[in-house]
Amino acid sequence: MCPKCGRSGSRIVRVISGRRYVYYRHYNPETKGVTYCYVGPLDGYVRVEALHDLELTNIEDQDYIETAINSLLKAFKKLSKDERIEYEVAVEEVLTKLFTRLTNYRKAIEKAFEKAFTGQ
Ligand SMILES: [Zn+2]
Repeated sequence: MCPKCGRSGSRIVRVISGRRYVYYRHYNPETKGVTYCYVGPLDGYVRVEALHDLELTNIEDQDYIETAINSLLKAFKKLSKDERIEYEVAVEEVLTKLFTRLTNYRKAIEKAFEKAFTGQ
């Protein structure tokens, strides 16, 4: 029995960044869909330890990809600290923002390529 919604389901544990989180998996035979209820951390509520600082260094040595990934992790940690927000919702929010941004960059880059190659 799921402690969150009261429906029957199977208890599962997911490991995310080395921590274990409890979910209940609910299968709906009518829609053949699966939903999850986030219950909470398995090991109790552990304070997020010292956040990784974004390592900003000089332009030549800056690893922008690394910084971008750290930024996303920080954004995700911030969202997931709020227990009212379910894991899936937090992931969806962070990834939606990321891919929207990337799509915009892609469009801008495509435009620049078009300009360069067609000379117009
Ligand atoms: Zn549930």
